[in-house]
Amino acid sequence: MSEESVVFQSTINKKPPHIVKAKGVYMTVIQNGKTHELLDGCTGAAVGALGAGDEDVYEIINEAARNSFYTYPSLIGNQHSEDLAQFYIDNSPKGAFASALWCCSGSESNENALKIIRQYWLEKGNTKKIKFISRETSYHGFTLGALSISSNGRAEFLKDSLIDQDKCPKMPVCYPYRNQKDGQTEAEYVQYLLDALEKLIIDSGAETVASITVETLPGSSLGTVPPPKGYLPGIRRLCDKYDILMHLDEVMCGTGRSNPNGGLNCWENFLEPGQFPDIQTVGKTLGSGYVTIAGILIGPKIKQAYVEGSGAIVGSHTYASHGFNCAVALGIQKKIMKEGLTKNIFEKGNKMGEMLKKKFLESGENNIVGDVRGIGGFWSIEFVKNKKTKEIFDKSLDVGHEMQNFCFSRGLNVMGMQGCKDNLAGEGDFILLAPSFVITDEDVEEIVKRVSEAIEDCTEWLE
Ligand code: PLP
Repeated sequence: MSEESVVFQSTINKKPPHIVKAKGVYMTVIQNGKTHELLDGCTGAAVGALGAGDEDVYEIINEAARNSFYTYPSLIGNQHSEDLAQFYIDNSPKGAFASALWCCSGSESNENALKIIRQYWLEKGNTKKIKFISRETSYHGFTLGALSISSNGRAEFLKDSLIDQDKCPKMPVCYPYRNQKDGQTEAEYVQYLLDALEKLIIDSGAETVASITVETLPGSSLGTVPPPKGYLPGIRRLCDKYDILMHLDEVMCGTGRSNPNGGLNCWENFLEPGQFPDIQTVGKTLGSGYVTIAGILIGPKIKQAYVEGSGAIVGSHTYASHGFNCAVALGIQKKIMKEGLTKNIFEKGNKMGEMLKKKFLESGENNIVGDVRGIGGFWSIEFVKNKKTKEIFDKSLDVGHEMQNFCFSRGLNVMGMQGCKDNLAGEGDFILLAPSFVITDEDVEEIVKRVSEAIEDCTEWLE
């Protein structure tokens, strides 16, 4: 019997494995007195950009501790937060961002984004824009505002405490693997999604819609789902047509995890040249797990409205734009850029994905892999009972989480998922792969080998 956990967490009556040591992409964990060596294929929840125990980061932390001093941010600021904001602006396409606010978690960043969006419209003298459109089967965090724009069943027990759902309309999920009909081209599927969104905007009253939130490359509900060509540009155009702010959530997929140009933003894969989000949220790899930091990047249009309006955002958090966190995050981001690690993860991640595709999708063999999808350092595998019909496994088998356990037994840390009950797109099983940016070709081979072994184990268990 496992011991109870004293920490009030998601596994109170079952102590989770505890980490005792980590270096680079490997970690040592202890469970029930037994030691396991794991290759980290998911860096927590797609958090780690650098590997563990990085000596340069220890130096960065040491220096930041000596050169940063806590102040209440709306009374006295700090240069580290300014420098981090400037770094993000300088390393994004010109004209994309003009300002940033730093906070401590992705949920907090999305919560702040909603507040900033609402205040933006008030700064413009528009009191009518109060609705936040988002997408079915999405996840933007577990605070009440962020949950209100999410819809994946995890929040079912809180549904009566959220922002009135009339103010948070949901557009259809974008999930080609299951929802693009036989015979429908990609362009037709995209048009169907955009038409549905336009109808939702009109039905909700376009003059009342403040923003549309989408995760650029969603990863938290249905495994990773790269948006089809034209989908995000189409949303941008609808935002322009109906005077709505476009909010991209890049908490999981952003800050270098999946950028084709060695930069920071995932949307550079998908938006057309000259198209930008109006506001963007980031987190996870920004601090790479060494510090708890997330952020809200503000486009020039929003900044200008505040500058010409009240000149200040209403409300502040005690640890907003925390000097130490910003200094460490900046040091980490500079190291990543200097060493070309965003390029490395884009290339190695794609290599990993292609190897998995070749092995499980293109080999013609009958296996439980229905789909392998992703881009750069952000991939997932979807498991099915029947490859042809895409039939899912019985929910009670919980194949997504069992796969996570089989990977663990084979020495690989991944995140298993199961689609939620009210998941309108399907209720499938997935594992998420989001390795560290420092992975080598050998690490890629090892991840593919261990995943393959775990899939064999799981297949045997299912028989
Ligand atoms: N947004 C997305 C897309 C996420 O994947 C997550 C977390 O997984 C969040 C927001 C919430 O971030 P956090 O857990 O840091 O609050």
